[in-house]
Amino acid sequence: MVDGTRTAYRTCPLCEAACGLELTVAGGVITGVRGDREHVFSRGFICPKGATFGGLSGDPDRLRRPMVRRGGEHVEVSWDEAFAAVQDGLRPIIETYGGPAVAAYLGNPNVHTMAGGLYVTPLLKALGTRNVFSASTVDQMPKHVSCGYLFGSPLAIPVPDLDRTDFLLMLGANPWESNGSLATAADFPGRLRAIQARGGRFVVVDPRRTRTAEHADEHLFIRPGTDAFLLFGIVHTLFAEGLVDLGRLMPYAQGVDDLEGLARAFAPERVSGVCDVPAGRIRGLARELAAAPTAAVYGRIGTCTVEFGTLTSWLVDVINVLTGNLDRPGGVMFPLAAHLRPNAEPGGKGFTTGRWHSRVRGLPEVKGELPVATLADEIETPGDGQVRAFLTVAGNPVLSTPNSGRLDRALAGLDFMVSVDPYLNETTRHADVILPPLDATQKGHYDFSFLALAVRNFASYSPPIFPADPGGMDECDILARLILIVSGQGASADPAVLHDAMLARAQQKSGQAEVSGDGPAERLLDVALRAGAYGLSLDDLVAAPHGVDLGPLQPRIPEVLRTPSGLIELCAPPLVAEAARLRAALDRPRPGLVLIGRRHLRSNNSWMHNVPALVKGRSRCTLQVHPADADRLSLADGQPAAVTSRAGSLSAVVEVTDRVMPGVVSLPHGWGHDRPGVRLGVAADRPGVNSNLLTDELVIDPLSGNAVLNGIPVEIKPA
Ligand code: SF4
Repeated sequence: MVDGTRTAYRTCPLCEAACGLELTVAGGVITGVRGDREHVFSRGFICPKGATFGGLSGDPDRLRRPMVRRGGEHVEVSWDEAFAAVQDGLRPIIETYGGPAVAAYLGNPNVHTMAGGLYVTPLLKALGTRNVFSASTVDQMPKHVSCGYLFGSPLAIPVPDLDRTDFLLMLGANPWESNGSLATAADFPGRLRAIQARGGRFVVVDPRRTRTAEHADEHLFIRPGTDAFLLFGIVHTLFAEGLVDLGRLMPYAQGVDDLEGLARAFAPERVSGVCDVPAGRIRGLARELAAAPTAAVYGRIGTCTVEFGTLTSWLVDVINVLTGNLDRPGGVMFPLAAHLRPNAEPGGKGFTTGRWHSRVRGLPEVKGELPVATLADEIETPGDGQVRAFLTVAGNPVLSTPNSGRLDRALAGLDFMVSVDPYLNETTRHADVILPPLDATQKGHYDFSFLALAVRNFASYSPPIFPADPGGMDECDILARLILIVSGQGASADPAVLHDAMLARAQQKSGQAEVSGDGPAERLLDVALRAGAYGLSLDDLVAAPHGVDLGPLQPRIPEVLRTPSGLIELCAPPLVAEAARLRAALDRPRPGLVLIGRRHLRSNNSWMHNVPALVKGRSRCTLQVHPADADRLSLADGQPAAVTSRAGSLSAVVEVTDRVMPGVVSLPHGWGHDRPGVRLGVAADRPGVNSNLLTDELVIDPLSGNAVLNGIPVEIKPA
């Protein structure tokens, strides 16, 4: 390296794939980004988003100082002024109405930071509010709930063992664009190609011919929201043709006979007319899953964001169990992250929901939170327990949650709002105070969430590349100061006191006396690693800039099971009841035109549209319409169309394409950067339209409270 140029390695924090990046750094800026070819997990893979890592940190619109709203304008202030404003705004509300008068929303990027993983839970506890909402009820809560009932813990999520499977059935997943979700797999496309190269197959079920579907051995179109019917048809076939074989799982599963009874109503001929997958192919899939040496069923966003989301997620793993593919190499397996320990023995308290209910709609709590689909109700509806103040951490619910137009209006009526966020965006424009954390290059990184979902066990820690911005504040300190404010210790209390108390508690709990690390998050990580499954330390990870490979996934049943019985409980009563509801839905009339979302490789929800390299070129925010529907509705390619649902309406440019099946239209999510008061210069030039103006907050998956974002009935006409 010349002239002070150096190379730095770090894990990309932008999506769940956890790729290793090799960064060229000169003069205090990142001058080059490429995949780290020596990284133990990603082996040089990088996507266009990771390649813009430097662009994000250099974004001139990224906030570097706190902002306070004065006279309708956001102005920069000192940190002391900002925290004093939080104290003045929040404390009177808490003292008058109590902690539940403050709602919190946690966005997806929270799980991509160490501070989010370590300090948000203590903040919510200090607030003492049950009005906790997050992106989990936008797109993934059904998987937590189904795993909670099946395995006893909502965090016991099995992932497809991509590197060893012979047959993969994917539903509602598009990893060629998303790079995977609830399955951390850097170079997901490469791992899919490798299945084919070793003589295996992968099949995609999706209402759209996605890029993943194009590369698949087979693509089956399916009516949006009907995956549960297809999957029950497969279960029916497995029983009817004597293909059920639990193998090693036999002594660890209960409810197989009950399952056979539930599946009787869902013969392939019966469900075929609902989901539009031929009965012969449903039978064929069941036979392939049963006959393959190893096989895995993997469902993602499209299977969660529907009315029967939890039932669908449950059926995915039911099939993995019935074919003997749960917890065996080449099937679906439970990762074991370096900061976690295996359980001493199977069995536990199990999983339950509804420990409390939302005030207005009476929706049950799930995993400590309420459905974000009812957030606007809680803000708008007067009475005891009304939400009067709002805290967001790394979230943009005005673009990402159902009927977001209503939420946008509701936020304008709050008494006080504070946001921990690097952007003045469509949501934080409502905030009285915005507290921006340091950029990703200025803080350490370890994936608490995604290493527990990785398709191969590994660990990596990335130290900061640059010193903190002068006048910037680390997110651990920001969250610690908020904890101190809401717990009544004042705006000027020293966050170090809280950091030390948290560390002492972690050491006491784990019995780890030794600790190293420069920052509070690093020290907590070090304690967790030392107590973890592999006995690593932070120093071990610092010494391994390309990560530490911990080997292929290992069987974890029965130890991983936390159900009261210590077994896989296949037929928990809530799911049995939901299966009856699905049976009744067999005779529902088919809806007319329905809307689904879609994903693009250069986009990640709502927050990466301000990077020029990611949004350049042809607009991707189009309404995809099948040629037959376009003809019938007199819609022309490139022309605007008016789209209306129960929740709202918008105008979008039509793209006529046979990538969507007849009767289905598709808009990407995360767009709509045209609100006043936003500081996203690049995004505002290409605002797109917000698909969540059309999604309906009144329709949810009842077991998980998850939003229904796919299969929204719409009417369309030329604009
Ligand atoms: S796939 Fe995800 S983790 Fe990998 S480079 Fe792209 S954004 Fe980063």
